[in-house]
Amino acid sequence: MSRFLRVGQAITSPASNTTRKVIPVPIYVDEHGYVQNAGFVFQPIPALEHGRLQGPHAIVLHRTVSSTARNSLNAFARGIGTHFLIDKDGTIYQTASLLQKTYHVGPIRSRCFEEGTCDAAEQAAVESLERRQGYRDVHNREKVKPYPDRFPMNEGSVGIEVVAMYTEATRQWDPPTPEQSESITLLARILKTQYSLTDADIYEHDRISRKTAGEGAGLYDGSDSVPARFPPPFF
Ligand SMILES: [Zn+2]
Repeated sequence: MSRFLRVGQAITSPASNTTRKVIPVPIYVDEHGYVQNAGFVFQPIPALEHGRLQGPHAIVLHRTVSSTARNSLNAFARGIGTHFLIDKDGTIYQTASLLQKTYHVGPIRSRCFEEGTCDAAEQAAVESLERRQGYRDVHNREKVKPYPDRFPMNEGSVGIEVVAMYTEATRQWDPPTPEQSESITLLARILKTQYSLTDADIYEHDRISRKTAGEGAGLYDGSDSVPARFPPPFF
Protein backbone atom coordinates (compact mmCIF):
# COMPACT_ATOMS: atom_id res chain seq x y z
CA MET A 1 0.00 0.00 0.00
CA SER A 2 1.14 3.50 -0.74
CA ARG A 3 2.31 5.55 2.21
CA PHE A 4 -0.28 8.14 1.27
CA LEU A 5 -3.99 8.05 0.55
CA ARG A 6 -6.13 10.48 -1.30
CA VAL A 7 -9.08 11.47 0.91
CA GLY A 8 -11.41 13.89 -0.79
CA GLN A 9 -9.18 16.63 -2.15
CA ALA A 10 -6.40 16.01 0.40
CA ILE A 11 -3.57 13.57 0.75
CA THR A 12 -3.12 11.78 4.03
CA SER A 13 -1.37 8.68 5.36
CA PRO A 14 -3.22 5.49 6.30
CA ALA A 15 -3.86 4.86 9.97
CA SER A 16 -1.54 1.84 9.83
CA ASN A 17 1.38 4.23 9.29
CA THR A 18 0.72 5.96 12.58
CA THR A 19 3.41 5.74 15.22
CA ARG A 20 2.14 6.13 18.75
CA LYS A 21 3.88 8.91 20.61
CA VAL A 22 4.89 8.09 24.17
CA ILE A 23 4.51 11.15 26.34
CA PRO A 24 6.66 11.03 29.48
CA VAL A 25 4.64 11.78 32.59
CA PRO A 26 6.52 12.83 35.70
CA ILE A 27 6.14 10.90 38.93
CA TYR A 28 5.23 13.22 41.78
CA VAL A 29 3.55 13.35 45.17
CA ASP A 30 0.24 15.16 44.81
CA GLU A 31 -1.27 17.69 47.22
CA HIS A 32 -2.98 14.88 49.11
CA GLY A 33 0.31 13.05 49.64
CA TYR A 34 -0.22 10.28 47.07
CA VAL A 35 2.35 9.17 44.49
CA GLN A 36 1.03 9.81 40.99
CA ASN A 37 1.99 8.19 37.67
CA ALA A 38 3.91 5.28 39.20
CA GLY A 39 1.24 2.60 38.80
CA PHE A 40 0.56 2.25 42.52
CA VAL A 41 -2.78 0.97 43.78
CA PHE A 42 -4.38 3.52 46.09
CA GLN A 43 -6.05 1.87 49.05
CA PRO A 44 -6.37 4.64 51.67
CA ILE A 45 -6.95 3.38 55.20
CA PRO A 46 -7.93 6.43 57.27
CA ALA A 47 -7.25 4.61 60.57
CA LEU A 48 -3.53 4.55 59.68
CA GLU A 49 -3.13 8.33 59.68
CA HIS A 50 -2.11 9.92 62.98
CA GLY A 51 -1.24 13.56 62.31
CA ARG A 52 1.25 15.53 60.28
CA LEU A 53 4.39 13.77 59.04
CA GLN A 54 7.58 15.85 59.31
CA GLY A 55 9.96 15.69 56.37
CA PRO A 56 9.98 12.78 55.78
CA HIS A 57 13.70 12.30 56.33
CA ALA A 58 13.88 8.50 56.39
CA ILE A 59 12.42 5.21 55.15
CA VAL A 60 11.90 2.16 57.35
CA LEU A 61 11.63 -1.32 55.81
CA HIS A 62 9.45 -4.04 57.34
CA ARG A 63 8.12 -7.51 56.67
CA THR A 64 4.47 -8.21 57.47
CA VAL A 65 4.41 -11.72 58.93
CA SER A 66 1.41 -12.48 56.73
CA SER A 67 1.05 -14.52 53.57
CA THR A 68 -1.25 -12.17 51.66
CA ALA A 69 -1.62 -8.44 51.14
CA ARG A 70 -5.31 -8.77 52.03
CA ASN A 71 -4.48 -9.97 55.56
CA SER A 72 -2.13 -7.03 56.05
CA LEU A 73 -4.60 -4.48 54.71
CA ASN A 74 -7.21 -5.85 57.11
CA ALA A 75 -4.73 -5.57 59.98
CA PHE A 76 -3.84 -1.98 58.98
CA ALA A 77 -7.48 -1.03 59.61
CA ARG A 78 -6.71 -1.42 63.33
CA GLY A 79 -4.51 1.67 63.08
CA ILE A 80 -0.97 0.27 63.00
CA GLY A 81 0.82 -0.10 59.69
CA THR A 82 2.81 1.61 56.98
CA HIS A 83 2.32 4.03 54.09
CA PHE A 84 3.09 1.34 51.54
CA LEU A 85 2.54 -2.40 51.24
CA ILE A 86 4.26 -4.51 48.59
CA ASP A 87 2.49 -7.72 47.59
CA LYS A 88 4.20 -10.93 46.46
CA ASP A 89 3.54 -10.04 42.80
CA GLY A 90 5.18 -6.64 43.24
CA THR A 91 1.95 -4.62 43.41
CA ILE A 92 2.56 -1.48 45.46
CA TYR A 93 -0.37 -0.36 47.59
CA GLN A 94 -0.31 3.15 49.02
CA THR A 95 -2.42 3.00 52.17
CA ALA A 96 -1.71 6.37 53.82
CA SER A 97 -0.88 9.90 52.75
CA LEU A 98 2.75 10.98 52.78
CA LEU A 99 1.57 14.09 54.61
CA GLN A 100 0.53 11.91 57.56
CA LYS A 101 2.56 9.88 60.04
CA THR A 102 1.71 6.24 60.61
CA TYR A 103 2.54 3.99 63.59
CA HIS A 104 5.18 1.54 62.41
CA VAL A 105 8.46 2.08 64.27
CA GLY A 106 7.83 1.70 68.03
CA PRO A 107 10.45 2.58 70.68
CA ILE A 108 13.82 3.24 69.04
CA ARG A 109 17.20 1.95 70.11
CA SER A 110 20.04 4.28 71.08
CA ARG A 111 21.84 5.04 67.85
CA CYS A 112 25.20 5.93 69.35
CA PHE A 113 25.03 2.81 71.56
CA GLU A 114 24.31 0.53 68.59
CA GLU A 115 27.00 2.18 66.49
CA GLY A 116 29.60 2.54 69.23
CA THR A 117 29.82 6.31 69.02
CA CYS A 118 28.40 7.41 72.41
CA ASP A 119 30.52 9.62 74.65
CA ALA A 120 31.40 8.07 77.99
CA ALA A 121 28.51 9.57 79.96
CA GLU A 122 25.91 8.60 77.34
CA GLN A 123 27.40 5.13 77.02
CA ALA A 124 27.14 4.57 80.78
CA ALA A 125 23.57 5.89 80.91
CA VAL A 126 22.33 3.73 78.04
CA GLU A 127 24.19 0.67 79.30
CA SER A 128 22.44 0.89 82.62
CA LEU A 129 19.04 1.23 80.93
CA GLU A 130 19.78 -1.69 78.60
CA ARG A 131 20.81 -3.83 81.55
CA ARG A 132 17.40 -3.48 83.14
CA GLN A 133 15.58 -3.53 79.77
CA GLY A 134 14.40 0.05 80.17
CA TYR A 135 13.64 0.31 76.48
CA ARG A 136 10.99 2.99 76.85
CA ASP A 137 13.51 5.08 78.79
CA VAL A 138 16.08 4.55 76.04
CA HIS A 139 13.49 5.77 73.53
CA ASN A 140 12.68 8.84 75.64
CA ARG A 141 16.38 9.67 75.87
CA GLU A 142 16.73 9.35 72.09
CA LYS A 143 13.63 11.18 70.95
CA VAL A 144 14.89 14.62 72.03
CA LYS A 145 17.95 14.26 69.76
CA PRO A 146 17.73 15.58 66.20
CA TYR A 147 17.74 13.15 63.28
CA PRO A 148 20.16 11.67 62.19
CA ASP A 149 21.84 11.72 65.63
CA ARG A 150 19.06 9.28 66.52
CA PHE A 151 17.22 6.65 64.48
CA PRO A 152 14.02 7.71 62.67
CA MET A 153 10.67 7.62 64.45
CA ASN A 154 7.06 7.63 63.26
CA GLU A 155 7.09 11.44 63.22
CA GLY A 156 9.53 11.69 60.30
CA SER A 157 9.68 8.41 58.43
CA VAL A 158 7.90 6.58 55.63
CA GLY A 159 7.07 2.95 56.36
CA ILE A 160 7.16 0.18 53.75
CA GLU A 161 5.81 -3.29 54.54
CA VAL A 162 6.72 -6.23 52.33
CA VAL A 163 4.41 -9.27 52.40
CA ALA A 164 6.53 -12.08 53.84
CA MET A 165 6.30 -14.80 56.48
CA TYR A 166 8.62 -15.69 59.33
CA THR A 167 9.30 -19.33 60.13
CA GLU A 168 9.76 -19.69 63.88
CA ALA A 169 11.41 -23.12 63.71
CA THR A 170 14.22 -22.00 61.41
CA ARG A 171 14.18 -18.31 62.39
CA GLN A 172 14.09 -17.44 58.70
CA TRP A 173 12.22 -14.67 56.92
CA ASP A 174 10.89 -15.23 53.40
CA PRO A 175 13.26 -13.59 50.94
CA PRO A 176 11.58 -10.99 48.71
CA THR A 177 10.27 -12.25 45.38
CA PRO A 178 12.05 -10.76 42.32
CA GLU A 179 8.95 -8.61 41.72
CA GLN A 180 9.02 -7.35 45.31
CA SER A 181 12.72 -6.48 45.00
CA GLU A 182 12.02 -4.47 41.86
CA SER A 183 9.15 -2.63 43.50
CA ILE A 184 11.25 -1.81 46.56
CA THR A 185 13.96 -0.40 44.29
CA LEU A 186 11.39 1.67 42.40
CA LEU A 187 9.68 2.98 45.52
CA ALA A 188 12.96 3.77 47.26
CA ARG A 189 14.12 5.66 44.20
CA ILE A 190 10.90 7.67 44.01
CA LEU A 191 11.04 8.58 47.71
CA LYS A 192 14.75 9.39 47.59
CA THR A 193 14.14 11.71 44.64
CA GLN A 194 11.04 13.36 46.11
CA TYR A 195 12.51 14.01 49.53
CA SER A 196 16.25 14.32 48.77
CA LEU A 197 17.14 11.21 50.76
CA THR A 198 20.14 8.91 50.38
CA ASP A 199 20.60 5.20 51.04
CA ALA A 200 21.87 6.21 54.49
CA ASP A 201 18.29 7.26 55.26
CA ILE A 202 16.89 3.78 54.58
CA TYR A 203 16.63 1.56 57.69
CA GLU A 204 15.75 -2.02 58.54
CA HIS A 205 13.14 -2.06 61.29
CA ASP A 206 14.86 -4.58 63.52
CA ARG A 207 18.09 -2.55 63.47
CA ILE A 208 16.45 0.54 64.94
CA SER A 209 13.75 -0.93 67.21
CA ARG A 210 13.17 -4.10 69.28
CA LYS A 211 11.97 -6.47 66.59
CA THR A 212 12.65 -10.00 65.40
CA ALA A 213 16.16 -10.09 63.95
CA GLY A 214 16.31 -9.88 60.17
CA GLU A 215 12.84 -8.39 59.70
CA GLY A 216 14.11 -5.73 57.33
CA ALA A 217 17.20 -7.53 56.03
CA GLY A 218 17.75 -8.34 52.36
CA LEU A 219 14.88 -6.20 51.12
CA TYR A 220 16.84 -3.32 49.62
CA ASP A 221 20.23 -3.81 48.04
CA GLY A 222 21.06 -0.18 47.35
CA SER A 223 20.70 -0.74 43.64
CA ASP A 224 19.66 2.40 41.86
CA SER A 225 19.07 0.84 38.47
CA VAL A 226 15.51 1.13 37.26
CA PRO A 227 13.93 -2.32 37.02
CA ALA A 228 13.10 -3.47 33.48
CA ARG A 229 9.45 -3.67 34.53
CA PHE A 230 9.45 0.13 34.84
CA PRO A 231 10.94 1.42 31.57
CA PRO A 232 11.19 5.07 30.61
CA PRO A 233 9.23 7.31 30.88
CA PHE A 234 9.23 6.41 34.57
CA PHE A 235 12.67 8.01 34.96
ZN1 LIG B 1 8.34 -3.83 61.32
